Amino acid sequence: MSNFNELIKNIRSLLIGPAVSRFAPSPTGYLHAGHVVSCLYVFGITRAVGGQVLVRIEDHDQSRSRDAFDDAIRDDLIWLGLIPDRSPWPGHELGQFEPQLRQSLRAGIHAQRLQDLTAQGLTYRCDCSRKGLSHNPDGELFHDGACKNRHVPQDAPHGIRVLMPDRDFVFDDLALGTQHQNPQRQTGDLLARDRTGSWTYQFSCTVDDLDQGVNLIIRGEDLLPSTARQLALREVITGSDLAPTPLFFHHPLVKDESGKKLGKRFLSTSIRQMRLDGQTPEKVLGFAAFLAGKLDRQVPLDLPTALDLFAR
Ligand code: GLU
Repeated sequence: MSNFNELIKNIRSLLIGPAVSRFAPSPTGYLHAGHVVSCLYVFGITRAVGGQVLVRIEDHDQSRSRDAFDDAIRDDLIWLGLIPDRSPWPGHELGQFEPQLRQSLRAGIHAQRLQDLTAQGLTYRCDCSRKGLSHNPDGELFHDGACKNRHVPQDAPHGIRVLMPDRDFVFDDLALGTQHQNPQRQTGDLLARDRTGSWTYQFSCTVDDLDQGVNLIIRGEDLLPSTARQLALREVITGSDLAPTPLFFHHPLVKDESGKKLGKRFLSTSIRQMRLDGQTPEKVLGFAAFLAGKLDRQVPLDLPTALDLFAR
């Protein structure tokens, strides 16, 4: 017990109660090596602190999500041995990879939450198209709040925005140190439901993390800027800035040979393709550890060894 590294000791000392973390892929493409890296951080760190991992299939974007990708992601995770420890549904036993993992099955709950915020005067309708919006210096869409006083008619196509506070949120990222982010300055008021009726990532993810008791969020560095938006939304939804906030660990992204983030179109590293090519789970785990800089050469790894490498 005494050989726990600083990260694990730190998480144990900061968490009240057992750790609950999640791996939350979107079924908009096949699982690729970058996902496996992320998943190994999630499972490795969470299990090292004695916590539990749930898997949530984030199919909130109905225009891009496909059943075939959902099936393939689950199948690839099982093949790798990365089986969740608990169901995202409080009170539900985990039946391996049950269909209830899908976020879209909670659409009614998302709608109820938004309705509650609307009843408190914390939302407004917005009919802006993506093209009509400007961008922040990081290239993200920025809304200047102009729709707040325009009273977009109910029967016109519209999205719904939630008012975001204009103040700094400060949090200590376990990998990257102290962060200061102002959600209002970053992207303006937060789009919860878009004009097509899809729930946005920020809204559905925050509601689900809250409901599913997630207190340890481990994900790629590309999602670092989302963090204050999600913290702000937690405050708005719970009506309190005293509710416990989760711990965050944003891990480095895996890059392809040209230095870009590994994408779902980078099919040569999709797990599907690797399986078709006759690779073993151990070889894929070794490849992921090598890509993440946890090994200096590619050697096959069994799952416990791989998880151990990602927990330090
Ligand atoms: N669904 C997101 C993605 O696939 C991850 C969300 C998260 O971990 O917060 O990029």
